[in-house]
Amino acid sequence: MAVGIWVLNDQLDLLQAALGSCRPKDARVVLVEAEATLRQKPHVQKQILFWSAQRHFVEELRLQGWTVDLLEADGHGEALSTWQKDYNITELRVMEPADRPIRQAIERLSTKFGWTAELNWIANNHFLWSAAEFREWAGSKKQLRMEFFYREGRRRFDVLMEGDEPLGGRWNFDQENRKSPPRGLKGPEPIWFVPDRITTAVIGKLEKLQSLHDLPGNRHPFNWGTNRDAALQVLENFIKTRLAGFGPYQDAMVSEQPTLWHTLISPYINLGLLRPLEVIKTIERRGLEQDVPLASLEGVIRQLLGWREFTYGLYHHFGADYTANNALEARAPVPQFLQELGGSGMGCVDTVLGELKASGYAHHIQRLMVLTNLGLLAGIEPQSLTAWFKAHFIDAHDWVMQTNVVGMGLWADGGRLGSKPYAASGRYIKKMSNYCKTCRFDPTKRSGDDACPFTVLYWDFLARHAERFRTHPRMALMIRQLERIDPGELQAIRATAAGFEWAKPGQPQCS
Ligand code: SF4
Repeated sequence: MAVGIWVLNDQLDLLQAALGSCRPKDARVVLVEAEATLRQKPHVQKQILFWSAQRHFVEELRLQGWTVDLLEADGHGEALSTWQKDYNITELRVMEPADRPIRQAIERLSTKFGWTAELNWIANNHFLWSAAEFREWAGSKKQLRMEFFYREGRRRFDVLMEGDEPLGGRWNFDQENRKSPPRGLKGPEPIWFVPDRITTAVIGKLEKLQSLHDLPGNRHPFNWGTNRDAALQVLENFIKTRLAGFGPYQDAMVSEQPTLWHTLISPYINLGLLRPLEVIKTIERRGLEQDVPLASLEGVIRQLLGWREFTYGLYHHFGADYTANNALEARAPVPQFLQELGGSGMGCVDTVLGELKASGYAHHIQRLMVLTNLGLLAGIEPQSLTAWFKAHFIDAHDWVMQTNVVGMGLWADGGRLGSKPYAASGRYIKKMSNYCKTCRFDPTKRSGDDACPFTVLYWDFLARHAERFRTHPRMALMIRQLERIDPGELQAIRATAAGFEWAKPGQPQCS
C-alpha cells in the first residue's frame, strides 16, 4: 500500500490540501510536464511560467523532505499509469481542481489507462469560499450581486472593518477610482526577473519544440517570477510602490504603460504561489500602516476578496451548463487579428494585442473595455472567445474566464452575472485612454471610412438588439438614443458595420 499525491500545475503551494493530508515520509509526490498541453496553443510566456514554476516547486518540495517525481511525457494518462505501477501506488490523492473540466479529464484518464490507484479527491483550499459556502450564501437569491457578496466577505474575514461597519463608513469607492488618464501619466516601474537556470532550461526545451507547435507570443524577454520567493517580491513591490496609487487610475489605459498601478500578482495567486488570505491581510495591514488612501486600499481588496472569489463561486454555482450560454446568439468566429495578436488597424486593439504578445498580460480594463467589448459588439461566439482568452493570458484558467468572458464581457448568460452588457463606443475608449490620438479612425464618427469600428458597432449592436433591451431598466436610455438617430444615418451606420468582414454576428432571433 503506497500513497501518491499528484500536484496539479496550479496547486504549487506547500500548504495545499493534498500535501497537507500526509507527512513527507508517508507519500510519494508526482507532477507532470505534458507536451500534450501545447496542442492547445498557449501563449509561450504562459507555458514557460507554468513549466518553470512547476520545476521550481519540485525543488522546494524536495527541500522539505518529500520524495518527488517530475514526469516529462507526451500525455498524462500513460505516464501516470507507469508511475503508479513502478511505485506500487494504491491511492492517488489529488486536490480538487479549480477548473471543472480537469477533474472530468482525470477521471477519464483513470479509466482509459487502467490506473491501479484509487483516486481520492481532497477539498481545494486555494479559495476563501468553498463551492458549498458560496452555494449557501447564494441560497434562493434571485440576483447574485458581487457588491453584496463582497460585503459579506469583508465581514466574514474581518477586512477593513470597524466592528460591523466598513472602515471609513463606506463600502465602495468606485466613483473615486475611475479617473481619465492625464497627458504623460506614468506608473511606477514593475519588478521583473532575469530567467534563472531552471527557466532557461524550460525556454530551451520549448525552443526545440516551438517548430513543432508554433506557440503564439514572444519567447524573449521572459521576465515573470517563477517561484514563491519571486511572487512575494512582486507583492512587496506592489505594496511599497503601487498600492497608494492603485485606485484613481485603475480604469485608465495608456500606450507604453501596460501595467500602470496594477498588482501583477494574478499569475502567482492563480498558480498557488501566493495565498489569497495572506495577500489580503498583508495588503490591509501594510496599507493601514502606510496611511494609504482608503479608496486605493479598498479598490484592491475589492478585486481580491470581491471579484476573484465571486468569479470562482459563480463558476461552480452555475455549473457545467453555463458554457452553453449564448443569449445574444453571437456567431462570429474569432477574428484573424486576435489569432495573430495584431494587424487589426485599430489603435486600441493593436496596442493591447502588442502588449499581450510581449508578456501574456493585459490589465482588466484592457480586457473588459477593449477586447471583450469588441467581442460583444462584433458578436463573437462566446466559447470561441473564451478559449482564445484562456490560451493567451498568463493568469487565465477556466474558472476565471468562463464567468469573466461569457458573463461579464459578452453578457451571453443573459444577465445572470452582470445587470447590463458592458457595451461601449469609441468615445469611452477615447475618454479612458490615449489610444485614439494616433489611430486612423475617429472615435466620434459612426459611419464612413474613418468611422471608429467600436462606435459603428456599438450603434449596430443596439440596433440588432433593440427589441430585447427596449424595456431593460439599464439599457432603455441607450435604445431611446438609438431611436433618435435619423433613419438615413442609421442605415449608413449599419452599412459601415456590414463592411467589417471580421464582425458577422448573425441576426438574433430574440424579441
Ligand atoms: Fe480604438 Fe476607435 Fe480609438 Fe481607434 S478611434 S483607438 S479604433 S476607440
